[in-house]
Amino acid sequence: MNILQECQGASRIAITGHVRPDGDCVGSCLALYQYLLKKMPQARVQVYLEKPAEIFAGIKGYDQIDTLCEDTDPYDVFFVLDSVPERMMEPAQKLYAQARKTVNIDHHISNSGAGDVSYVVPGASSTAELIYELIDKEALDTDLATAIYIGIIHDTGVFQYSNTSPRTMEIGAHLIRFGFDFPKLIQETFYQKTYLQSHVLGRVLLESIRFMDGSCIVSGLDRKTMDFYGVEPKDLDGIVNHLRNIKGIHCAIFMYQTGVLEYKVSLRSDELVDVSEVASFFGGGGHVRAAGCTMKGTFHDCVNNLSLHIEKQLEAHKD
Ligand code: AMP
Ligand code: MN
Repeated sequence: MNILQECQGASRIAITGHVRPDGDCVGSCLALYQYLLKKMPQARVQVYLEKPAEIFAGIKGYDQIDTLCEDTDPYDVFFVLDSVPERMMEPAQKLYAQARKTVNIDHHISNSGAGDVSYVVPGASSTAELIYELIDKEALDTDLATAIYIGIIHDTGVFQYSNTSPRTMEIGAHLIRFGFDFPKLIQETFYQKTYLQSHVLGRVLLESIRFMDGSCIVSGLDRKTMDFYGVEPKDLDGIVNHLRNIKGIHCAIFMYQTGVLEYKVSLRSDELVDVSEVASFFGGGGHVRAAGCTMKGTFHDCVNNLSLHIEKQLEAHKD
């Protein structure tokens, strides 16, 4: 796929990602935004996303993100990054449906391709890595390199998860040549947590429960507890990884309440469980070792339903 060819003659271009945007989603959307502003100065380019966490405020273009999406004029090209179109913010759905051309760029294995033009590479560490591969490298500058780098570090756990390839490291090496303060960026956007976030993490770990002979672990937060600590969904990124890091755990589940009898579920696993398959069964998706979905029911209903699928996979490994 050639981004500029797809945008040829376009005067209005929109970019969006998924609900509750994470580092890769924000990084890749703002990287594409910066690139198109540079390469197509005559076009109007707009990013639509739910308000990303403040930690991403340093990425160029963050202030230009439209979180309301009240525009009604159709776009010539509409990009959906790091997501299937169904998972974009609700107010953007109408504009997407009216767009002259839709382009989907993603790396989720559960995405079977969407839009008029689809570029899905499940082997890529992140959508930000795909944006790097697709752009003319001479357009790279410190701001663009920073946006792509943030996307990559968030989806690879700072070049640590199994989705990190030699190519990912090569791209990282190229990007840090642009001279941004990468240790500070990693510390402030990935590792650093507020005092309240740390309290919530402590509580989630304390209340976690192991099951299936200690091979799985689950913990969660209900709305009341989230309100008590004053935390929002975007403050909970990364909690599930602490559960996954516990010795002996093959599958970790973290859930937080999003409505009456409704939970957002995050799943993490090692090589024994394909959590993308589990999440896809419940209408979500993701990657083999990191996936998510939204489920209806009580906390215990959700755990019971998930555990049936996880157990089936763990049993299959015993044969
Ligand atoms: P999370 O646990 O929400 O951080 O998600 C883990 C991975 O699964 C990320 O790559 C998400 O983009 C993806 N994911 C989470 N929820 C969904 C969903 N409902 N549909 C498709 N992919 C998802
Ligand atoms: Mn991603």
